[in-house]
Amino acid sequence: MSSGTATPPVTSIRADMSATIIDGKALAVRVRAQVAEDVRAFVLRTGRTPGLATVLVGEDPGSVVYVGAKQRACAEAGMTPFDHRLPADVSSAELSALLARLNTDDAVSGVLLQLPVPDHLDGPTLTGMIDPNKDVDGLTPVNAGRLALGLPGLRPCTPLGVLELLASAGVELEGAETVVVGRSNLFGKPMAQLLLAENATVTVCHSRTRDLAAVCARAEVLIAAVGRPRMITGEFIRPGAVVIDVGVNRLTPEEAHNKSGLVGDVDFDAAVEIAAAITPVPGGVGQLTPAMLLRNTLEAARRSAGVEEAP
Ligand code: NAP
Repeated sequence: MSSGTATPPVTSIRADMSATIIDGKALAVRVRAQVAEDVRAFVLRTGRTPGLATVLVGEDPGSVVYVGAKQRACAEAGMTPFDHRLPADVSSAELSALLARLNTDDAVSGVLLQLPVPDHLDGPTLTGMIDPNKDVDGLTPVNAGRLALGLPGLRPCTPLGVLELLASAGVELEGAETVVVGRSNLFGKPMAQLLLAENATVTVCHSRTRDLAAVCARAEVLIAAVGRPRMITGEFIRPGAVVIDVGVNRLTPEEAHNKSGLVGDVDFDAAVEIAAAITPVPGGVGQLTPAMLLRNTLEAARRSAGVEEAP
C-alpha cells in the first residue's frame, strides 16, 4: 500500500473476490525451520546451545497446553527446554527466587512466565523481574520502553507474528491506514508501536471508542484483538482490506460451528467475502506466536554471546 493514494494495491486487485486466506500454519513451519537452521549455525559458531525456561504456576488447562507446545517447539528447534512447574499456591517470594535464579543461569537464554498467574500473584510485577535480556516475551517495562523509544530490544511474540503474517502476504505497511482493536499491554499497545515503526498510520481502538464500526471501516489493515467471538462483523470491514484476527475464543459445543470450537474476534464468513486477505482462527496468528518465541530465544542467546548478526 503506497502512501497518499486513495486505493491501496491489495484492495484494488481483490475487492470483488473472496479473500485470500493467509496460512499461518505454513508460515510458522517455515519460520521454525529457519530458526532450527540458525540454531545449528549458532551452536557450531559459539559452542553454546540456546535454552528456554518456561515457568507455569498452577494447572490452568489452556496454559498447560500452551507451555507444553512451547517446550516441544523449543526442543524441535535444537534448543534446550527447561520446564518449571509450580503449585497454584506458590508464594510470590518463591516465584521471585526462581526467576532470580533463572536470570543468572548461563544455560538459560530466555525466561517466560506463563500468564495469567493465580490471583494472589502480581503478574506484571513478577514479569518485570525477568532480566530484560532474557525477556523473550518482550513484556518487561524495559523492553516495552525500548519499543516505545524505537531502541533495540526483545519484542512481544504475538505482534511480531502479525508483522510476519503481513510481510508474507506482501502487505506494504508504509503509509497504510491501520486500525488495531484492543489496547492491552500484551498485544494492542506493542502492535501499535511496531506498526508505527513500519511507518503505518495507526489508530488504536478500545471499549470506549465511539462508532467502532466506522473507525474500523477506514482500515486498509484491520487487526482485531478483543476477545469477543465474531464481534467484527461485515460492516466493520472496508472492501479489500487485510484482516488479521488475533482473537481466540472457545465456543460451547452447542455454539460451535467448526470442529475445534475456536473462533476469532472476526465474523470470518462475512469478512471473507469483503476482505482481500484474512487470517483464519485457528490456523492464523496463533501459529506464529510460538514460532516468534523461538526466534526471540535465539536472538537473546545471540546477544548474550555477543553474536549480533545471523551466524
Ligand atoms: P485483553 O487484555 O482483555 O484486552 C482486550 C482489549 O479489547 C481491551 O483493550 C479492551 O478495551 C478491548 N475491548 C473489549 N471490548 C471491546 C469492545 N466491545 N469494543 C472495542 N474494544 C473492546 O485481551 P488481550 O490479551 O489483548 O487479547 C485479546 C484477544 O487476543 C483474546 O481473544 C486473546 O485470547 C487473543 N490473543 C491471542 C494470542 C495468540 O497468540 N493468538 C495472543 C494474545 C492474545 P479496554 O482497554 O477499554 O478495556
